[in-house]
Amino acid sequence: MRISQSASCLGELLEWAVTELKAAGVDTPHLDARILLAEAVNLPTTDIYAHPEIIPSSEAIQQLYEWVRRRRHREPLPYIIGKKEFYGLSFEVSSSVLIPRPETEVLVETSIRLLKGVPNPTIADIGVGSGAIALSLAYHLKDATIYCTEKSADALKIARRNAARLNVGHKVHFLEGDLLKPLTGKTFDLIVSNPPYIPTTEIDTLQPEITKYEPRQALDGGPDGLLYYRIIVPQSPNYLKNGGWLAVEVGAGQATEVVSLFQIEGFKDTHTVADLAGIERVVVGRLK
Ligand code: GLN
Repeated sequence: MRISQSASCLGELLEWAVTELKAAGVDTPHLDARILLAEAVNLPTTDIYAHPEIIPSSEAIQQLYEWVRRRRHREPLPYIIGKKEFYGLSFEVSSSVLIPRPETEVLVETSIRLLKGVPNPTIADIGVGSGAIALSLAYHLKDATIYCTEKSADALKIARRNAARLNVGHKVHFLEGDLLKPLTGKTFDLIVSNPPYIPTTEIDTLQPEITKYEPRQALDGGPDGLLYYRIIVPQSPNYLKNGGWLAVEVGAGQATEVVSLFQIEGFKDTHTVADLAGIERVVVGRLK
């Protein structure tokens, strides 16, 4: 990749990065260029507009070249800069974990609502990934104790680091293993999960950022996407206290079928919660 000799101040670097990202078909070239430049030069994004004449160090410019090259290959921006904001907190991410999505914030909000008035709640997060859900809950529910399971050892390392960085490590327990298995013998006030829910054959129709870079085992929900709900929903009653809640995120169009899975297992007060786009995103039920 080349850059003209003159393109060395922030304004010119920004313009160059936008052009490169546009040419690669990146959805939001302006936003991504601004973030990559701000991270590379270690300045707030506002300074880039306020002081376009600043000339960054050659190391910072090299960093920007490298990051723009990666983004041109459609590597997701959070993997490049190594972090993603979720529920107002910053999470370390790498290609070992699914990038936290804004719609998952609905699951966090719902969980906080369900546990209002429950003293010292115990929570389990199945498939913790980066820790987005579990650690947001740990951060906001001061008296909660949280158990997380995850079968990817690499993902668990990231989740542990995020817990330490958010200062919630003392109340979060990380267990390596499949789904609910590591929780044998324990019961909870709330079980949450954002399991993989994309039907296998749909994965390759998604954008390259997802298909080429995100961990397939965090995406693939089997032939119809519902594989993990068929395991988690029937097993959860063994791990819930009386009156305990199960709350899961679902993909667009999956809520009705997942609601019936809850009803078959005898969950009460089963309902759905929509995300900001109006998609039924969370299914909730209570064990009575
Ligand atoms: N619990 C994590 C999240 O919601 C990971 C979910 C997953 O990998 N399917 O971001």
